[in-house]
Amino acid sequence: MAKVDFEVPELDQYARIPAVEPGTMSRSKPYVAKAEFQADLGFPGELVDDWQNKAIAKMGELLGKYRSLQVYLDSCVKCGSCTDKCHYYLGTKDPKNMPVGRQDLMRKVYRRYFTLAGRYFPKLVGAEDFTKEVLDDWYSYYHQCSQCRRCSVFCPYGIDTAEISMAAREIMDSIGVGQKYCNEIIGKVYKIGNNLGLPGPALGDTLEGLEEDVYDDTGVKVRYPLDEEGAEILLITPSADFFAEPHVDGLIGYGKVFHEAGVSWTLSSYASEAANFGMFIGSYENMRRVAQRIRKAAIDLKVKRIVFGECGHAWRVAYSFLNTLAGPWDFLDPRYPVPQHICELTYDLMQQGKLKLDKSQNDDKVLTYHDSCNVARASRMGDTPGGQFDIPRAIIRATCNNFYDMDEETIRERTFCCGGGGGLLTDDLMEVRVKGAKPRVEALNNVMQEKGVTHMAAICAICKSQFTKVLPFYGMEMDQIVSVHQLVSNAIILTPGEEDEAAEDADEAA
Ligand code: SF4
Ligand code: SF4
Repeated sequence: MAKVDFEVPELDQYARIPAVEPGTMSRSKPYVAKAEFQADLGFPGELVDDWQNKAIAKMGELLGKYRSLQVYLDSCVKCGSCTDKCHYYLGTKDPKNMPVGRQDLMRKVYRRYFTLAGRYFPKLVGAEDFTKEVLDDWYSYYHQCSQCRRCSVFCPYGIDTAEISMAAREIMDSIGVGQKYCNEIIGKVYKIGNNLGLPGPALGDTLEGLEEDVYDDTGVKVRYPLDEEGAEILLITPSADFFAEPHVDGLIGYGKVFHEAGVSWTLSSYASEAANFGMFIGSYENMRRVAQRIRKAAIDLKVKRIVFGECGHAWRVAYSFLNTLAGPWDFLDPRYPVPQHICELTYDLMQQGKLKLDKSQNDDKVLTYHDSCNVARASRMGDTPGGQFDIPRAIIRATCNNFYDMDEETIRERTFCCGGGGGLLTDDLMEVRVKGAKPRVEALNNVMQEKGVTHMAAICAICKSQFTKVLPFYGMEMDQIVSVHQLVSNAIILTPGEEDEAAEDADEAA
């Protein structure tokens, strides 16, 4: 565990609303993107001359384009319902991390330049000039919002701070103030195809290695194909699945599910990334460019279906926007949803009795489940309301004997963010990540104490990476976080193919 220069909060047994400590997180600022990373995305390389006027003009453009933004900025009645709902406020005590406090950073600028009262009587309506100090506050606090949308669930007007935070980041990018982590990653997707910068040949080697590992473990040849033209399914999965723990165990599970379904599939070296950080920086154009790679890969590989692996925000982009970003998908098989989530596919196979599962293979674990924000509050699964909550749980229950949910105030649509979403999964934001994880870790700790829970499953690559890193700060083990398809992988009883039986006969004859 890395040495840190901040105090890790103590876990409380019951949710506690802390007293405010203004300014405690004003020093938290992620590294600014260098000119070269900005250029790849079409943004200026450094703070432009006349940045104030350009930022205000950009804000005007966004207010015209996204009417919801203006509604959100106009409709807050300061009722206070959201103040204790953000994990970053609960973990840091900084009032600018209250959702309404975060919104007000933009609202005061909006009022100053876009409302009559703000133009003539700024002090009366809390309007302020867009000064460098205000810009610095924006950079700090709009990078302490994981765009998780929890606050919007509790706001009587449905004000979505995530959208305000996306708009703020878009305005900052447009004047040359971008965040290094997100913008560098998007550039890697353009140049290489994935967030990690893993080139095609290295990806091919990794997949070959997985095939060998699975064969050694099971005696069954499960395939992990790359760039196979004419495969039925194109799997779009987060690049963390290619090597990081516990993500790769999930990828092993997807391959086993496809094997049992008897369906051909492939990964693409061109579109080897499900993540779409264009959403985090609020840039429609960059989100579209990333999504268009999936379309090109699907056309080039002549697939019939697209399935997404375990990634929360990627599923949000796919479920909510893929058709407008990269459709129409009229060349795909209309009998299947476009796109489909791997959990939907696995669940359908379970319903049809096509997967044989031995739950006892996961008897060394007592499970709970973390609903990832973007899946929970910004998407659906299956064809019934709440499918995004019920389908992953049904898969866990079918693969494990021991499962307990965390406190109901912290799951399903009220789930707490892992603390690392929205483009915050970078070491330069470790303090806000650790403190922001507190409410989720508290709920986990409670089921560990009360029910003997040992592991928490998730279907989001960012959640898995974040928990691997932050659980040790709270005295827990990094491997307590597991992939849902890792549980499937452990429990699934594989059917040997003809090739496997012939190899077994040859071994016996020898
Ligand atoms: S969207 Fe999430 S992180 Fe952002 S202010 Fe709301 S609760 Fe906090
Ligand atoms: S809950 Fe909604 S209306 Fe109330 S203070 Fe928060 S943002 Fe404003």
